[in-house]
Amino acid sequence: MKTAFGTGRLLIRIDDICQRSNWRVLRQLESIMVEEGVRPIVAIVPKNMDDSLVIEPPNPTYWEDLSRWQTLGYGMALHGYHHTFAQDGGGIMGRSSRGEFTGLPESVQVDMLHHGIDELESHRIHPMVWVAPRHAFDWTTVAALSRVGIHCISDGFFLAPRNGPCGSLWIPQQTSRIGRPCFGVVTVCLHVNRWGTDEILQFRKDLSNFRQYLISLDDITSVAETWPTWNARQIERGDIVNIALRTRQVLSRVLKGRRAKHLKHLS
Ligand SMILES: [Zn+2]
Repeated sequence: MKTAFGTGRLLIRIDDICQRSNWRVLRQLESIMVEEGVRPIVAIVPKNMDDSLVIEPPNPTYWEDLSRWQTLGYGMALHGYHHTFAQDGGGIMGRSSRGEFTGLPESVQVDMLHHGIDELESHRIHPMVWVAPRHAFDWTTVAALSRVGIHCISDGFFLAPRNGPCGSLWIPQQTSRIGRPCFGVVTVCLHVNRWGTDEILQFRKDLSNFRQYLISLDDITSVAETWPTWNARQIERGDIVNIALRTRQVLSRVLKGRRAKHLKHLS
């Protein structure tokens, strides 16, 4: 399959950025990315209330660091509001049983988005992309995002970006491993808070190996009109990527069950 770029491309996304993230790791990744000329999407939690994202004492230069990333051309993304999971349902993607936004009325979702955007904008950080915690958001979220002026959505189990309802541009997110993209646009989502030396070394190696495939959010949005348009049903259904992911999920459940049975038999 041909994309607007003529061949497969790779976009890096780093999730769960907040004041108490593992900034020792993030700084090392930043210097590697500067060397390799990589401009990732960084998913920022505006007001983190999720204890699992608390790794270090608050970073005293947090806002300066984010501002530098913005200047470097990183794609600044809104990663929910509190990164908590009080709502039932995984929404459009159906990959999670709970979410922060799913099922809430549009006016409530608009308010939450506004609060998050205001927090970032008060420090001159301009979020351009939506990254839903645990892939959980619904069509009401998409409408609410359009009302607050965020049109890019980093999610979807398909091969390449698609234009969607309410003026949205969907940049698919399919994997957590950096590798050679055969076709389409592959977004690699990284959770780096618990990374050590080995993972950082591997990251450097991967970026250097696959440098020629790397693109940024700007590269994708600058050719937004060239991506096909899909309706809501097509986005929910996805394409071969969705089939592959669902098959893998089912098979790993089956294998897990078989292994448990085998162990029980042995004991
Ligand atoms: Zn997250």
